[in-house]
Amino acid sequence: MIRKILFIGVILTAATTMSGCRLFSRPADNMNDPFVQRVMQGSAIKEVRYKGKIWRVCMAPNTYATVGETMYTEEEVWKKTIEEQRFTYLRGLIAHESVHTARQLQSGVTVWMIGYFLSPSFRWEEERIAYETEWKVQVAGGFVFVNADYITFANDVSGSMYYGMTDYNTAYSFIKDTIAKIQEELKK
Ligand SMILES: [Zn+2]
Repeated sequence: MIRKILFIGVILTAATTMSGCRLFSRPADNMNDPFVQRVMQGSAIKEVRYKGKIWRVCMAPNTYATVGETMYTEEEVWKKTIEEQRFTYLRGLIAHESVHTARQLQSGVTVWMIGYFLSPSFRWEEERIAYETEWKVQVAGGFVFVNADYITFANDVSGSMYYGMTDYNTAYSFIKDTIAKIQEELKK
C-alpha cells in the first residue's frame, strides 16, 4: 500500500511537472546506432532514456514507461535486446509505446497519467489497444505465439506489474482471441 501511494505520488509529480521522470534518468547512448535507427524509424517516440535505479522502488524491472514522446527503459534490458538484434520484437514494442504516446498527446499527458494510475479499467483499456498494435507488428513479422506466451502475458497483466488491472482469465482470453483475429486478418 505504501509502495502504491509512493508510486502514485511520484507519477503525479512527474506528470505534472514533466521533469520528475527526467530527473532520475539519462539519455540512451546508442541512438545513432544504425540498428536502433531502423527500430525507431517512423515511431512517435522521439527519445529513449535510461531509468535511474530509483525507479525500481515503484516499477518492476524490465518494464518500459512512456511519458509523452519519451520512452524510459533500463539500460541493460535495452542494450541486450539491441545486441541480440531482436528487430521484430523491438518494432512491436515501439509500436506499443507509440500508441501510448499518441493517446497521451491526444488527451493531454497529465489527464492520461491520472486516468492510467487511478483507474484499473482505463489502464486495461489503454493496454489492450497498445498490445493489439504490438502483436499485429510481431505476427506480421513472423512471430508465432504459443500457449506459453498467452500464459506469460496473462500472468504479467493480471499481476503486480500493472497494479492489478484485470484478472488472469480475462487477460488469457484477450490475447488468445486477439492473436487469432490478427492471424485471420493477415490471411486476407
Ligand atoms: Zn503499455
